[in-house]
Amino acid sequence: MEDQEFWDSDSESLIFEKDRHILYLEMMYQLLPPPYQGQEINRLTLAYFVVSGLDILDALDRIDKDAVINWVLSLQAQPKNDRTFENGQFYGFHGSRSSQFQSNNNGAANLNGSHLASTYCALAILKTVGYDLSLIDSELLLKSMKTLQQPDGCFMPIHTGGETDLRFVFCAAAICSMLKNWSGMDCLKAKEYIRNCQSYDGGFGLIPGSESHGGATYCAVASLKLMGFIEEDLLSNKASSNIINVPLLLDWCLQKQAQEDGGFRGRANKPTDTCYAFWVGGVLRILQADKFIHEKALRGFLLTCQSQYGGFSKFPRLLPDLYHSYYGFCAFSMLKEPGLNPLCVELGMTDIAAIGL
Ligand SMILES: [Zn+2]
Repeated sequence: MEDQEFWDSDSESLIFEKDRHILYLEMMYQLLPPPYQGQEINRLTLAYFVVSGLDILDALDRIDKDAVINWVLSLQAQPKNDRTFENGQFYGFHGSRSSQFQSNNNGAANLNGSHLASTYCALAILKTVGYDLSLIDSELLLKSMKTLQQPDGCFMPIHTGGETDLRFVFCAAAICSMLKNWSGMDCLKAKEYIRNCQSYDGGFGLIPGSESHGGATYCAVASLKLMGFIEEDLLSNKASSNIINVPLLLDWCLQKQAQEDGGFRGRANKPTDTCYAFWVGGVLRILQADKFIHEKALRGFLLTCQSQYGGFSKFPRLLPDLYHSYYGFCAFSMLKEPGLNPLCVELGMTDIAAIGL
């Protein structure tokens, strides 16, 4: 197909093309679980975008739920015996089959590559398709997850180490919330870590002292909400807002909506991008300040990123990708697009999935 087509503003639709988006996700679903080339390691994450995306579009009937459940459950790490459980391994979910059986540089099998982000995606998918999470061995999962928490309150994503930052605090909080069991983390320590990540400008960086960023700010605020540290009346009750600086945070978020095109940017002086309509818009929603979003302008920006073949791109008039498509659907759900299911912003799934009806 000609590149020119993507630059042809006449082909831009002024409406949310729900049916085309469903077809786009169905096409992606047919590539999963069989190989999705080049991104094998992220299979569970891609599946989360497809399954939760279809749920937002109210089209979960397009997938074989039992097949999805069996595939996701097959990716859970299991200890061989009680002894191996004691060696600090994390018994969550592998991102895909290849990380389940990967080997190290010496060719020896590295049996457990289960990851906090994959585990979040696995549980989110299972919850979305209506699987009863009480059937999961959450004792094992949470006990082993707690060993990933560092003295400063942050989490490693995997038992062999790796970078620690707010993304994995969010994953841990979401996992505990979905399993309705908070024994997997020390919430007070996690709260301290989050506080330390708030920057002088009100936003949050991924680690203490780093530049404020939309994704990190979502992870911080969603985690606090899930852990119960953000009260419903946050904006009206100034006395309760001493965990973090809420007025400064609000300022930072609202400044991220660009005057020029109505989209949100993730950092100061960066271009606007579809996904920040969710990351930053979602923070405003959790803070019950989404009434300050210029909705018409945001909607206009998002529609310039909508592909005529379904899905959303990062920037206007580019080819769509699954990540930006998913957060585009999330953004339209928050904008109350008719026919879309409402979102539980802090868990990153629909309200129906979060409540577990
Ligand atoms: Zn993006």
